[in-house]
Amino acid sequence: MSKHASRLVAGVDVGGTNIEVGLVDADHTVVDRAKAHTPTDGPDAVLDTIADLVGSLDDRPVAVGVGIPGVVHRGDVLTVPNLANWTSTVEIGAELGDRLDLPIALGNDANVGLLGEHLAGAARGVDDVLGVWMGTGIGGALVLGGHLYGGTRGAAGEIGHVVVQERGALCGCGRRGCVEAYAGRRQMEVTATALQAAGRETRLFAIRDEVGKPSVTSKVWKKALDENDPVAVELFATALDALGVALGSTLNVLDVGLVVIGGGLAEKLGQDLADRVATATAPWVLQSDPDRRFVVSELGDDAGIVGAASLARDGLD
Ligand SMILES: [Zn+2]
Repeated sequence: MSKHASRLVAGVDVGGTNIEVGLVDADHTVVDRAKAHTPTDGPDAVLDTIADLVGSLDDRPVAVGVGIPGVVHRGDVLTVPNLANWTSTVEIGAELGDRLDLPIALGNDANVGLLGEHLAGAARGVDDVLGVWMGTGIGGALVLGGHLYGGTRGAAGEIGHVVVQERGALCGCGRRGCVEAYAGRRQMEVTATALQAAGRETRLFAIRDEVGKPSVTSKVWKKALDENDPVAVELFATALDALGVALGSTLNVLDVGLVVIGGGLAEKLGQDLADRVATATAPWVLQSDPDRRFVVSELGDDAGIVGAASLARDGLD
């Protein structure tokens, strides 16, 4: 056991909407937490907010791990497509290390989320796992042979950008036909807006206003689906169809025994979502495996915090 094993580390989950920070012990338990809206005015404000949140925790951690919604390769953040006004390349590790005077470890947000589930949640003890994070975008991650698999450039597991429709809908990544263009919340809202403008009746935007959200969040989707709103039902079915095609093809390549569905939609819809994803996937799988399981994340928002914290702890050993 390393000399740091009993010390607390901090895990940071940088999302498109919120930044969540937790103080995590050696058993992967979150013992204190803090959260703030993600600033939209660029990297400096994001880094300041992370530093403030870490500083507000009950105890000073010995290291900080950060999950970033971008491609992270050997500690460098290559691209951050889902954060507003993040246009320049920023050495997040060095900049945050200067602000906090602590060692910093970086990882991709979907990767640290699955790492958290693998250490302390729905994927505990399972060696081969695919994680699918359904939120603003569609994130993905892989654990293979018991270890997080990042690939040659840190970009492995990006199920959201598996193309399911040649020359299909425009994706946030700039290409066409990606799963995320059909199943990411941001794109689904764009499509719903267009359908409403074309005369289709939907309560999605009225519900959004009723619950006081700035956008069509997972909570809004849940309410609209519960009401059988026709546009919500149709877009959700399209989303699941697209995800099923991508997942089936991915399982044909990787043959993992467990798929963990996480993110905001999984939290709101629960195991029913995982069951529907399994049903949408089945027609595209070459070798169906009766033992293959589709489950929702157990740790919810804490998955990213726990996984990011473990990166920080690993960096100390
Ligand atoms: Zn894409």
